[in-house]
Amino acid sequence: MQPSGSFKIRGIGNLMKSAVRHNKGRPLHFYCPSGGNAGLACATVARMIDHEVTIVVPRSTSQLLINKLRHLGAKVQQVGENLAAADLYLKKELIGCDPNAFYVPPFDHPLIWVGQETLLGEVEQQMVEKGGFDAVVCSVGGGSMLIGIQQTIKKRVAMTGEKPPMVLAVETRGAESLNASLLAGRHITLDKITSIATSLGVSRVAERAYELAQEPNVKSVVLSDAEACLGCVRFADEERILVETSCGVSLAAVYNGNMRKALGATMDDEEWAKMKVVVSVCGGSDVSLERIKEYRERYGAEV
Ligand SMILES: *Cc1c(COP(=O)(O)O)cnc(C)c1O
Repeated sequence: MQPSGSFKIRGIGNLMKSAVRHNKGRPLHFYCPSGGNAGLACATVARMIDHEVTIVVPRSTSQLLINKLRHLGAKVQQVGENLAAADLYLKKELIGCDPNAFYVPPFDHPLIWVGQETLLGEVEQQMVEKGGFDAVVCSVGGGSMLIGIQQTIKKRVAMTGEKPPMVLAVETRGAESLNASLLAGRHITLDKITSIATSLGVSRVAERAYELAQEPNVKSVVLSDAEACLGCVRFADEERILVETSCGVSLAAVYNGNMRKALGATMDDEEWAKMKVVVSVCGGSDVSLERIKEYRERYGAEV
């Protein structure tokens, strides 16, 4: 529901705003490697503040997203097998040749995390009268949303001494770089991304995300692409809102019982019914009515 179609503008906007503030009127050209929504956020902000912007997307990015980027006035180049390859090209071939270049990473920057903190910060304010909340569900790609959420929780706990709400970090199979690191007990890089949820397709999560995910209030689950797709289908049916699979996977965890298994396994039904759970409906622009129809046809019978 936010400009650029996902939560991403919170973090990326914060970083870009700070860059402009420190640059004292000199022109900047923003460069962002992105599978989609980070690029859309970067292009949206660049347009708002009237700066140049180039987005390098990997080959896995859909034409739908590329069209949306071009429509915002961004220069778009499609290079590389995955995000890491697009990033390498951007740094080597573009940034070095442009004295006005400013690099906008898609997720791994403290100023991005501070921007993402506003997400749960606003929810906290909205939930004050309801006595707060017990758990938060969010998807994990590079981990900036999770970092923003957990940092907000930690600040509140430090201030009030309250028990931290639980956090469920959700990924799709084939993009489970956080879950695989937690299982391995070290920060690992996936060989390749095989999930349909390209916005979660980061082969190595931010170090800070891996660090925070080891805190006792955070749990990690992995769901299939099929479940993520049907999460989008059901959300469209029930709430009349289109979201992409990277968001649908968090909704699927709620719909199909994974959330209860992860967070409420020891609770009886009565206890569980009292749980107030916040789900980050992070959105995403890589979706259309046509796509929802395909998901329903392809996976409807399977799950
Ligand atoms: C980027 C993105 C994610 C993942 O966020 P990270 O901060 O990279 O973990 C999830 N959902 C949507 C819609 C996104 O655009």
